[in-house]
Amino acid sequence: MTSHIRELPALALSAVSKSYGHNEGKVDALTAINLEIAHGEFVALCGPSGSGKSTLLNILSGIDQPSSGTVLFFGKMLNALHEKQLSAIRSQYLGFIFQFFNLIPVLSAFDNVCYPLLLNGRYQKNEANARAWDYLQRVGLAHLAQRKPGQLSGGQQQRVAIARALAHQPKLVVADEPTGNLDSATGEAIVDLLIKINQETGTTFVISTHSAQLKARAGRVVAIRDGRIDEA
Ligand code: ADP
Ligand code: MG
Repeated sequence: MTSHIRELPALALSAVSKSYGHNEGKVDALTAINLEIAHGEFVALCGPSGSGKSTLLNILSGIDQPSSGTVLFFGKMLNALHEKQLSAIRSQYLGFIFQFFNLIPVLSAFDNVCYPLLLNGRYQKNEANARAWDYLQRVGLAHLAQRKPGQLSGGQQQRVAIARALAHQPKLVVADEPTGNLDSATGEAIVDLLIKINQETGTTFVISTHSAQLKARAGRVVAIRDGRIDEA
């Protein structure tokens, strides 16, 4: 084990800026963002609507490219990579959780977790099945595995989405307002689950949120305002 590699941060953004559109229509969504996140951190990203949270999450996870600046993602300089290479890295290293769950309505909870594993290309059918069961169990939903998303509550759907985000054992889980569409008790149970998984697996978490509960329990809070990290 080479120690200098282990000391590299999980994520390092240097002078990252992102703008959309041109001329009068140009929007500076992010300006000169410098941010390092260590392996195993549980980071809450907070800021008002429109402050650049989703843009930042998409860039730090290689879903979108910055207009300028660099992103070091688990030792890889993303700027230098082509879409095919980026996509291969995302499918191995990244799990993403959305505010509106984004489950496939015609598939059962089980298939929503299993199907992406089969598409991933790294798992045989047996292993994909075993992983889907294992992760549905971990989120407490194995007993509802055959239900479709429309037959599950919001909190239950988000648990399925969490199982889907984790089943390939990513190094990074990014969640964009994962409790934003849940009542506060359900949201708190989801926060408990994410923290438990972070502590058990050492997976790095970056979560955008307006939730005071989540902020209070995160290992670190990063505040963003008008596309800049708030140093206060
Ligand atoms: P948040 O997630 O904090 O609400 P976003 O990252 O979605 O903020 O948006 C930051 C800014 O960038 C906002 O002004 C938003 O309108 C703008 N923006 C986001 N995505 C796009 C896009 N695809 N095209 C143009 N402007 C965008
Ligand atoms: Mg957003």
